[in-house]
Amino acid sequence: MVSTETAARAIELRREIHRYPELGFEEVRTSALVERELDALGIEHRRVATTGVVGVIRGGRPGRTAALRADMDALPIAEQSGEACASEVPGKMHACGHDAHTAMLLGAARVLADRRASLAGNVVLIFQPAEEGPGGAEPMIAAGVLDDPKVDAIAMLHVDPRLRTGAVGITPGPVNAAADELHVSVRGRGGHGGYPHLAVDAIPATAAIVLALQTIAARETDPLASIVVTLGTIEGGYRNNVIADVVKLTGTIRTYDPTIRSGVEAKVRRIVEGVAAGYGCTGEVSIVYGYPPVVNDAALATAFAAQLTAQTGIPVERLAPTMGAEDFAYFAERVPAVVGRLGIRNEALGSIHSGHSPQFRLDEEAIPTGISALVAFADAVTSGALDPAL
Ligand SMILES: [Zn+2]
Ligand SMILES: [Zn+2]
Repeated sequence: MVSTETAARAIELRREIHRYPELGFEEVRTSALVERELDALGIEHRRVATTGVVGVIRGGRPGRTAALRADMDALPIAEQSGEACASEVPGKMHACGHDAHTAMLLGAARVLADRRASLAGNVVLIFQPAEEGPGGAEPMIAAGVLDDPKVDAIAMLHVDPRLRTGAVGITPGPVNAAADELHVSVRGRGGHGGYPHLAVDAIPATAAIVLALQTIAARETDPLASIVVTLGTIEGGYRNNVIADVVKLTGTIRTYDPTIRSGVEAKVRRIVEGVAAGYGCTGEVSIVYGYPPVVNDAALATAFAAQLTAQTGIPVERLAPTMGAEDFAYFAERVPAVVGRLGIRNEALGSIHSGHSPQFRLDEEAIPTGISALVAFADAVTSGALDPAL
């Protein structure tokens, strides 16, 4: 298990990162902290993707290369957690636990660096910016973080309040959804609110479109497949007595199955254009394709779950996949990958809120468990106990 000293240092770093949250590609202070800590541990590192840092621990014996990934960015949320180390930056907060992810990876780095002479193979430490958007995984991959040394398997942990502190969740197969951005414009012809017959009102057309889009999930997709069509914003009109000429909608589309994902755009277009035309308006659709789904390598995830419990005693549970998205997907598309969920649920501490909530709180007792799980993955891959070619 992790020493008290290593756990205490990781918790101290987590609090420091938590106090100074930074948004995507602005993680200047956080990446400097990571570099300082890696220097202190004698771990070589380089800068990639603006604020990304990649460290490499080269073992004293030959073996495979494992990568461990942590994200570092925060969210534009005003913190209401009540934690003693709450954000000192107005309007920004580590509400997704990336502060703990970074601190745990530094903790794992400490454990692995301490015994690098006996370590077989290498461990690549990936400190990634901008997971919450616009995405730091792709530029890090483009900068070669999986290539030198060549990574055989990769893992990450994400804190999860569905699971009690001390436990880890590992689910073979799909775990996070693809997330695509939807933009809709509905155009009519503006006019006087008292003379609707002389205008073409975009508002009733949009109202009908909002309802009709719900039938993609309810009526057009196999009920056993998963899809979400959420409209997050609606914007249009000028004042109470003016007929709106344009209304704009934005939303998110979440799917797992690539066939369902690629078929949604045509359905949205047919509904938006068809319903708009029925009201004498025109409808326009654009979809910005985002993160693909995250798929755990089924054999690797199953084998690692068994080994983790056998070696560390950490209980592993199989959690249901979520419709949340995660740009770790790009790493998982390239090398065998395992996403683990790290339990942080603790009612007594109020560590019960979901990520992205201003009340989100993190039970720090989970940090040593997370460090142990990361180290166990690195050990299992580098020693050959876990075979990524399974
Ligand atoms: Zn998040
Ligand atoms: Zn997150």
